[in-house]
Amino acid sequence: MSETRTGEPSNFIRDIIDADLASGKVDTVVTRFPPEPNGYLHIGHAKSICLNFGVARDYGGHCNLRFDDTNPEKESLEYVNAIRRDVEWLGFEWHSNPFASDYFDQLYDYAVDLIKQGKAFVDSQSADEIRANRGTLKEPGIDSPYRNRSVDENLQLFEAMRNDEYADGEHVLRAKIDMQSPNINLRDPVLYRIRHATHHNTGDRWCIYPLYDFTHGLSDAIEHVTHSLCTLEFEDHRPLYDWILDNLETPSRPVQIEFARLQLEYSLTSKRKLNQIVTEGIVDGWDDPRMLTLAGMRRRGFTPEAIVDFCDAIGITKKDSTIEMGVLENALRDDLNARATRRMAVIDPLKVIIENYPEDQEEWFDGANHPQDPDFGTRKVPFSRELYIERADFMEDPPKKFFRLGPGREVRLRFAYYITCKEVVKNAADEIETLICSYDPDSRGGSSPDGRKVKGTLHWVSARHAVDATVRLYERLFNVPNPGAAADFHEALNPDSKIVMANARLEPEIECVDNPLPYQFERLGYFISDPDSSADTPLFNRTMTLRDSWAKIEQQK
Ligand code: ATP
Ligand code: MG
Repeated sequence: MSETRTGEPSNFIRDIIDADLASGKVDTVVTRFPPEPNGYLHIGHAKSICLNFGVARDYGGHCNLRFDDTNPEKESLEYVNAIRRDVEWLGFEWHSNPFASDYFDQLYDYAVDLIKQGKAFVDSQSADEIRANRGTLKEPGIDSPYRNRSVDENLQLFEAMRNDEYADGEHVLRAKIDMQSPNINLRDPVLYRIRHATHHNTGDRWCIYPLYDFTHGLSDAIEHVTHSLCTLEFEDHRPLYDWILDNLETPSRPVQIEFARLQLEYSLTSKRKLNQIVTEGIVDGWDDPRMLTLAGMRRRGFTPEAIVDFCDAIGITKKDSTIEMGVLENALRDDLNARATRRMAVIDPLKVIIENYPEDQEEWFDGANHPQDPDFGTRKVPFSRELYIERADFMEDPPKKFFRLGPGREVRLRFAYYITCKEVVKNAADEIETLICSYDPDSRGGSSPDGRKVKGTLHWVSARHAVDATVRLYERLFNVPNPGAAADFHEALNPDSKIVMANARLEPEIECVDNPLPYQFERLGYFISDPDSSADTPLFNRTMTLRDSWAKIEQQK
């Protein structure tokens, strides 16, 4: 079905499927991933995608991508297309890609069937009255005064609702179940409401729209879904799911099974809140690399393989828990370590002049593209009299444990020579402008024939050969582990989540445009070129640092 690995994890859902196959209850396993196209997919959806598509693939069945589109005001074709792209990017292929709205005619007929059986009625209470009469967890509900309308009257009213004879909110269609039920979902739930809104798929054909609970189970049944896997908040809806299917003749009888949502530290995975973050301009769009949307993660440089590996690692359970961000980051580091081509780049440059290196000379060193994998080959790295090193790799008055450059200290330049700092040149504002250094010609290649050792190895680029670039560094969007629990998530925002380094220098052998492949800029982390990168203005995003500097900060607190 697809190239993406999901392994063969065992979990309680697979146990249920095994039993259903063994007993003959199920022949072919059919699942669906049912997003509402009201926003972009996020890392939580990836868990559901990996589960639904992974199960279908491993059992030789199939999985549909179904758009659960029953709220016309919130949905759009932009979201539909973004969701398709993200599912494909993760490496999964859907069997079919229907809209729940494709079934509106059938759903209408099912509703009429319920009315004819005396199991649904048109209620003319206002929304407020319906809410007030629904009762609470402790109080039973109160029957609607319209509950005993005749079948004929209900049929007539429902048809008139459909035929645009009423305004929004004048009537609803409700199931007639039990206003005393301890499960509020069974207290005569609303099945249809009037909404004069244009729908992205059905246009203005309908002015009544079915509700999620009515639509979902019936769509599953129409598609012959065998196992309808959803998150735990739908557990209390299962009796309604069953009631609808038990009271109608449907092409098949699916079963709903619930599993725990993914909750990830330092992030929000509610589409409503993500939408707010985008709309308020807190980030630069749904695909901002700080967002844990799949589009944002792609732009950040996540690989689909790392996301699938992460979903495998966290597994599927029935108990809510919060996953540490480090689990996701380490899945990514493991994958990128194997995949990333090594290069040198300096993101905060400090000029170095090698005073004893001839001005008209240059050398091209062989640099391994990957230290552990010779298949990556090598490239030539130019060296010359004027170089850049990282500003953070020099200290004028370094402490003992600082193994980088300081006045009079000697370090190795990766692939090249030992250099010693002779003089620090400052500007009028007393800022360090240039380091005058000397090099040891005998240390060519990075070791000295006299056995002299140096502790530090720095990355560098040759000034004359360097490519100017902008590099964006990202930190977590939120400062607290559970921003969703904050009274106002704005207070949990990290003001330094994006740092733009406009003065970066890259070694010349770097693809800056149309390159989906990851780089490791040595000692700095993993980077990917941004879709907005151009030959004139190269632009890279830092995907992740090499080590978990965050964990270290947390420990020091
Ligand atoms: P939101 O409340 O953020 O809009 P949702 O659950 O309403 O999320 P849907 O588009 O309805 O979003 O979700 C499609 C599928 O993805 C559903 O089956 C849902 O259960 C699942 N899903 C959504 N969020 C998560 C999550 N955090 N972990 C696992 N599955 C999820
Ligand atoms: Mg939903």
